[in-house]
Amino acid sequence: MLSSTHEQLLKEKGFIDVPLAEKNWKSEIQKLKKEKNAVILGHYYQEAPIQEVADFIGDSLGLSRKAASTEADVIVFCGVHFMAETAKILNPKKKVLLPDLKAGCSLSDSCPPQEFAEFKKQYPDALVISYINCSAEIKALSDIICTSSNAEHIVRSIPADKPIIFAPDKNLGKFLENKIGRKMILWDGACMVHEEFEWQQTALLLNTYPEAKFIAHPESPPEVLKNADFVGSTSQLLKFVKTDSSSSYVVATEQGIFHQMQLSVPDKTFIAASCNPQRKTCVCGICPHMKRNTLQKLYLCLEHEAPELTMPETLRKKAVLPIERMLKLSELIR
Ligand code: 13P
Ligand code: SF4
Repeated sequence: MLSSTHEQLLKEKGFIDVPLAEKNWKSEIQKLKKEKNAVILGHYYQEAPIQEVADFIGDSLGLSRKAASTEADVIVFCGVHFMAETAKILNPKKKVLLPDLKAGCSLSDSCPPQEFAEFKKQYPDALVISYINCSAEIKALSDIICTSSNAEHIVRSIPADKPIIFAPDKNLGKFLENKIGRKMILWDGACMVHEEFEWQQTALLLNTYPEAKFIAHPESPPEVLKNADFVGSTSQLLKFVKTDSSSSYVVATEQGIFHQMQLSVPDKTFIAASCNPQRKTCVCGICPHMKRNTLQKLYLCLEHEAPELTMPETLRKKAVLPIERMLKLSELIR
């Protein structure tokens, strides 16, 4: 849905009375992108038309790397707030735009900075590893950032006798604890989309598709991850379906990834994993925050160079250090 401000702007431009076909939106966006020396970075969870106009589509690690290395003057981040924030932290001199500034993240919201600062005080000897899905304030309170692509590598790089606070995702934290065999102090946060997947329901679905493999993102609950044939970040899940021999997959992550999966291996079948139908809020893997961005909002954002992501320089300087440590530590991960 467009906000009334967006709608007003579209009306003024005559786009509401005579709606442009999708390909016109796309060509308008391409034109503006060249004019403004802008780059469009898009997460795999964005709607398909946005993925189609993006210069780079990736997971959180890939997008951070692109943000760190771009030559463009303007970065349009088609993702959620913490992702655009990360791009700004890495590029203080560039203009960073987010098509809808309200595109937040429930996982990031599950870790309020003041409460986290109090929590951290209880463990003065601990090193803080925070998942990138957190606010700039949490990043500033952390020692190293990680993403789901490099979390295992980052945790393994810390000496065994050093206590670790892992925030904000308890599910990714638990998954790492089980995989590495190392206890950590976990913050109790979760993603509203992945938290809803349920193994019991997915098992019923797998009865209907006995040939399918079950693959899951590590933000999913432990019971789901325990039963998955493969667990990985969005880019790792994509790579898996391209190289694995199975012809169908039940997938526990946000459904935006299905677009690239289907494009990469068109002959394979992808089925969304299930949530408990009793839960009235269940929409089986659609992130309402990611879906706030639309092609129309992307066009308007490029044209008006707004909404822009800004942040106090004192905060940025603190938040950049743990991100730089992550980028350095995961140089060898592709
Ligand atoms: P990755 O793309 O890094 O796997 O993260 C998924 C996610 O939840 C982003 O919000
Ligand atoms: Fe946040 Fe979950 Fe949406 Fe990712 S899928 S942006 S973690 S709410």
